[in-house]
Amino acid sequence: MKVYLDNSATTAMASEVIEAMLPYFADEMGNAQSVHSFGQRAKAGIEKARREVAALINVAPTEIVFVSGGTEADNLAVRGVAEANRERGRHIITTRIEHPAVLATCEALETNGFRVTYLPVSGKGLINPGELRDALAEDTILVSIMMANNETGTIQPIEEIAGIVAEARARGLDNLYLHTDAVQAVGKHHIDVRELGVDLLSLSGHKFHGPKGTGALFVRKGVRLGKLLHGGHHERDRRPGTENVPGIVGLGKAAELARTLLDRRIKRMRELRDHLEKSVISRFDGVRINGDVDQRVPSVSNLSFDGIDGESLLIALDLKGIAVSTGSACASGSIEPSHVLQAFGLSREEIRGSVRFSFSAFNTQDEIDYVLSVLGGPRTLQKEMNPNEGTESLEAQSRGQS
Ligand code: PLP
Repeated sequence: MKVYLDNSATTAMASEVIEAMLPYFADEMGNAQSVHSFGQRAKAGIEKARREVAALINVAPTEIVFVSGGTEADNLAVRGVAEANRERGRHIITTRIEHPAVLATCEALETNGFRVTYLPVSGKGLINPGELRDALAEDTILVSIMMANNETGTIQPIEEIAGIVAEARARGLDNLYLHTDAVQAVGKHHIDVRELGVDLLSLSGHKFHGPKGTGALFVRKGVRLGKLLHGGHHERDRRPGTENVPGIVGLGKAAELARTLLDRRIKRMRELRDHLEKSVISRFDGVRINGDVDQRVPSVSNLSFDGIDGESLLIALDLKGIAVSTGSACASGSIEPSHVLQAFGLSREEIRGSVRFSFSAFNTQDEIDYVLSVLGGPRTLQKEMNPNEGTESLEAQSRGQS
């Protein structure tokens, strides 16, 4: 059996998405900027997708900028605000647990005249809104705080954060913008931007059954935003380059499905996650859930297994056809322990023992039962994990009985 539980890294495309895209690779191959009817049909496909993406997060279609993915959306938001507002202020506030698309952009800006405050998080992975209030300065131009964390799923109190930003504006910090990286929240959590009160929001198609290499940045009307790329006047002058028409059409379809199926998908993911967590916790001693168990998206379960090496468990599971990850996909290959779990205050041992199981609504109960049977089953898996230690069971290891 093959079980894909690495849906925070990427998801399978929905068949409806593939179907919607196909004509735009062949018959509808026009350049959306062309005046003739081929071009106009491609443009119509893009504008339909724009309406769908806008409807998913409740904003105006004119406030959606299509980009190449979450990384570009984050870069455009952070660098775009910084560069267009550098005469008004040079201070940015973010958190220590952001995705590298935000963190590395902030670090690059630090070498270019900007000051960045990296807010810490609690042991459960939440920022303290009071610390955000204290960090705001006269020259703060941007607060960038992710909605859901990619390693643990922890959801930040964005509405409260937006309230603090609004208060600061009312006190006179009127050059201040709020950006949220919602790449891991879109399609897994109800998001209504009008209620939330953010100025910029990043999303990525491949995280919710859309195509890879697609994404969007919501830019509230009136936000002063610089550009990453220079060229033509595409995307209302925000992002030049011939549009990825099939990709955008696929993103639009994925957005439509995410909106219409959101409640069902959330319910399914929550049931699968809870089933896995309850069973694992009842079978093994020394398992902890990393992050806030209440404030999180239903798609992620980050577990630390006491006395187990997460990488070895990943490989052992892979040999049984089960895909999970340790830390974030983007950080894998790095020998550094996860910066997110470090910021949560976990010990090196706890980080070493952490495994991320991430779900989509395409997973089934049978798949989770298979994972549970492999984890707790006969000694085959344990042998694979510890070939030199005979037949010691994973269960015994986690209880420290070796
Ligand atoms: N932000 C977060 C929170 C992510 O999890 C990711 C991808 O893992 C990204 C940004 C980058 O998105 P993309 O893969 O579309 O570049």
